[in-house]
Amino acid sequence: MNIQTIMVIGAGQMGSGIAQVCAMAGYSVYLHDLKEEFVEKGMNIVHKNLSRQVEKGRMTEEEKGAVLDRLTASTELKNAEKCDLIIEAVVENMEVKTNLFKILDEFAPEHAILASNTSSLPITEIAAATKRPEKVIGMHFMNPVPVMKLVEIIRGLQTADEVYETIEAVSRKLSKVPVEVNDFPGFISNRILMPMINEAIFAVYEGVATPEAVDEIMKLGMNHPMGPLTLADFIGLDTCLYIMETLHEGFGDDKYRPCPLLRKYVKAGWLGKKSGKGFYDYQAN
Ligand code: NAD
Repeated sequence: MNIQTIMVIGAGQMGSGIAQVCAMAGYSVYLHDLKEEFVEKGMNIVHKNLSRQVEKGRMTEEEKGAVLDRLTASTELKNAEKCDLIIEAVVENMEVKTNLFKILDEFAPEHAILASNTSSLPITEIAAATKRPEKVIGMHFMNPVPVMKLVEIIRGLQTADEVYETIEAVSRKLSKVPVEVNDFPGFISNRILMPMINEAIFAVYEGVATPEAVDEIMKLGMNHPMGPLTLADFIGLDTCLYIMETLHEGFGDDKYRPCPLLRKYVKAGWLGKKSGKGFYDYQAN
């Protein structure tokens, strides 16, 4: 299937990065969010990233201009009419995602593929909200999108082979490495990563060590490039909580219960780097 125009829905940390790499690969891209100010925030992130590339000599001003010319801001879901592929990157919440997919199914042309960047929610359930489950697929990018090579591609129960192959080809065109997984809660990446982060939070909750000590041990002892609590702040503590809840509910196993301290921080609005506070303070940054 020939993909030319892509719509990215949700201009947050993931959506802005996805829109950037799609525009850099030569696709025409709509970056969509609920309000103009949210889209603008996402566009500014792309501007900043590209300017940094120019400063480092990795891109010319002309190339930057050409990438930006391929990006269009959107607050009208009707723009999906003009797209061959729609990549959803809104909040990690099943109700929000299924409502959105229902609407997209109405607007998007019949041939269009609907992909979700969900970190953990079942693709099969998202697909069931549409009349085209064979054209729904998981396209799970890693954060920060312009830097990280992996795209975990998740086949829903009814995802067509042709759709899988198209998404694999698009991922390669974005200079990413696609890896195929089947649809189970948390897929592979978050089924393994998130319980480790949750356990690190339990260690702090139970007073075993400070966040700094936990992170230092995992960095120096396990050679992880960043500690689990720094990573949790970076991912977003709300996203971490949603993922743990999905694992807990999906497997029905208490080994996935979210740590009460994680719930407390999310309730307090301490969402990590994006809100200025999580396990660490980012106010000064
Ligand atoms: P974010 O909070 O930074 O951004 C979410 C954006 O979606 C916001 O701008 C919000 O206004 C917008 N939005 C919410 N509802 C919407 C709707 N109905 N229509 C249009 N826009 C809407 O979140 P994020 O970290 O970018 O995460 C987005 C998705 O990507 C989630 O599903 C998350 O699980 C997944 N993901 C996150 C990471 C990560 O490290 N943060 C990594 C991989 C995947």
